[in-house]
Amino acid sequence: MKNFRNYTVNVDRFDPQVTTYKTRPLNVTPPTTHFFNTSDDVQLRLKRYKGGTKGPVILSHCTGVSSLMFAIDTIDVNLLEYLYNEGYDVWLLDYRLSIELPASQQLSTMDDVATKDYPAAVQTVCELAGVEKVQIVAHGVGASTLTMALLSGLENVSGAVCSQVSTHLYSVGINEFKAKLNAPTILRALGKKTMTSYTDINANFLTRAYDASLFFVPVPEHETCNSPVCHRISTIFGELYEHSQLNEDTHAALPRMFGRVNLSAMKQLTAILLNNKLIDANGDDTYLPHIDRLKLPMLFISGGNNDCVLSKSTQETIEMLADANGAEFYKRQEIGNYGHIDCIIGKDAARDVYPFILDLLESSQIQAVTKKESEKVKVDVAIDVKETA
Ligand SMILES: [Zn+2]
Repeated sequence: MKNFRNYTVNVDRFDPQVTTYKTRPLNVTPPTTHFFNTSDDVQLRLKRYKGGTKGPVILSHCTGVSSLMFAIDTIDVNLLEYLYNEGYDVWLLDYRLSIELPASQQLSTMDDVATKDYPAAVQTVCELAGVEKVQIVAHGVGASTLTMALLSGLENVSGAVCSQVSTHLYSVGINEFKAKLNAPTILRALGKKTMTSYTDINANFLTRAYDASLFFVPVPEHETCNSPVCHRISTIFGELYEHSQLNEDTHAALPRMFGRVNLSAMKQLTAILLNNKLIDANGDDTYLPHIDRLKLPMLFISGGNNDCVLSKSTQETIEMLADANGAEFYKRQEIGNYGHIDCIIGKDAARDVYPFILDLLESSQIQAVTKKESEKVKVDVAIDVKETA
């Protein structure tokens, strides 16, 4: 049974000055960093790790985190390193909800990410890499907003991987109950713009009292621990990982990965959860009438034990898309014994999850190259004709 006294005595507060977990240099060459602006003048960031001639592939994070979720150094091989070693030109995208960007302090919606951030990011990568199409691997809110972007007409994407969620979103009862309480709207009314998973040893008495109160937010006993950040993550998002899939170092490094979320984005996410499908920030059904725009190779990944976004969410997506556009475009993979973000940051994700991502990239990457090569041939032929004429 959970013991409140034990929790308050042994609470494990993060010290930003002391690294208590094992870290290592990344097995990639240093990146080139590219800042770029969206149509509404928000500055975003891409970090390029050119592992070879395949790609490019953009990795797009969830909300309340940053692209660090793909480059965490507490597991043996992270997704960045995995794809880099496979010869991909990997681009880590930090869009406006990234905790590493000043933009995350402002109010913005998931619509903003879909209709402004993704088009600017794809255009930037195409220009800098000198290609016509990119592939994208996106997780959580990154995957919801990628789907919204494609449904809004985003072009030049040859293949996409949506981790955990795409067009539909179902969660467990406790998360639906919390969604109905509508904390983002209440906090906005109180004048707040953001809330955060982050807390550390410098917290004042009131913050510590708040953290202690989160002990009573129900989570299964085997998912309890002494980390206030971990309790905050569960309170804001629901259970984001199976503790058994995280190594100790990654669990200790959660405060490095998680931080603020803006309340407008959370309000829209809450509304999507209560509607069980994508809607815009006004509550209108502007996205799903355009599912013909998702006619491209896509892989949907769901953790089999994901309580935050139930695996039936992507099951409904693939059935709907196969009916509308043809089954040949889509694949779905359920990963047993995994939850949500542990599909990316889990200690064995490189063995259990990444190969499925690679599979989709390899198939849709070949199509992209073939198309480009065939266009190049056409251009060459046209030049020859001109020169001999
Ligand atoms: Zn924990």
